[in-house]
Order: sequence, then C-alpha cells, then structure tokens
Amino acid sequence: MAKLFFKYGTVFSAKSLNLIATAHNYETQGKKILLMVPKMDTRSDGHVATRAGFRLPAELIDDDTDVLDVFKSHLAEKERIDCVLVDEAQMMLPKHIDQLRRIVNEYNTPVICYGLRVSYTMELFDASKRLLELADKLEEIKTICWFCNSKATHNLKLVNNKPVYVGKSIDIGGLEKYVPVCYSCYANPPLDSKKA
Ligand SMILES: [Zn+2]
Repeated sequence: MAKLFFKYGTVFSAKSLNLIATAHNYETQGKKILLMVPKMDTRSDGHVATRAGFRLPAELIDDDTDVLDVFKSHLAEKERIDCVLVDEAQMMLPKHIDQLRRIVNEYNTPVICYGLRVSYTMELFDASKRLLELADKLEEIKTICWFCNSKATHNLKLVNNKPVYVGKSIDIGGLEKYVPVCYSCYANPPLDSKKA
C-alpha cells in the first residue's frame, strides 16, 4: 500500500535538494513523477528550485486548485504516475492535504510532501498540521543551528539583523531573512557572534 510522507525540516535543510534527488532516482529508472508546488511560493514560477541551482518544472497549485483533479489529468496524459512530489507543502491549504491523502489511497500512489513544520512565530503551519495528522510516515530532514552546532528545530526571522517573533505566518518578498536555529538560539540569538 502506498504511503503519504511528510519530510519536514527548517529553512536551509536542503528539502528541495532532497526532492530533486528523489525525482532523479525515479526518472533514471524510467518512472513517472508529478511535481507540485504552491503558487504562493514566489521562488517557484512553475518550478521547484533549490539554492544549489537545480530546477524542475512543476504544476502550480493555488487556493482553488483541486490537486486530485491535477493528478487525474496528468494520469490521463501519462498513463501512469509512480510518485507525487510536493515542495513547500506548508504553503498549501489543509484541504489540499486531504486531497493528497485521497491520491495515496484511491490510486495507490505514494505522495511525498516536503516542507517546514513551524513558522518563525513557533506555530504549526495549517497544512503542516494537517500533514502531521494524516501522514503515514514522518521524517525529519536535519540541519544544524546557524549559530551553534546543535540540531536546528526552528526558524528565526531577522529584519536588519534583529529577531522578529510576531506577524503573519507566511510572509514573502520583503527584506527579511530566515535562518535555522535551535530552541536556545531562537530565544536568545547570539547575533553579535555571527551576522546572518
Ligand atoms: Zn543554536
């Protein structure tokens, strides 16, 4: 039986790189994948892109998209899809996660979602909450804290090198910077020791 995966991590944890490596593994075996990315992610422009410079074309999902319909139309075209990969899954809506769950169960097709678990305000993203509720398998993609060498668990928002702890959970396109941090560096970032 296929499974719904949620592979979560902080910013800079190479989630998109991990996705592209998985896509590559399927494709080198002649298998068909379907990539999806939420439209809100302005980095995407119809692609999954990594900081390391890799790009793959992806289906853009906006609030009104039914991802089950997207899957069905690709299935009609390609005859089979071996895996669905979703980047920046935290930016989807919870209803999209329910639709992805249906792809897994009704079509016996694995769906692997990559995304952030919590926002810089230390709250679960709505879609990430739904993924934690519905996924068969949870996997943490690990990286280290920007300031020390502990494992990073949270995302710190910096504006002009000052921490910001309140605001909308999704905030794109400004001058802010996000860095992966451990809990103690989130609470007390040693900003003098390392400029972000
Ligand atoms: Zn730290």
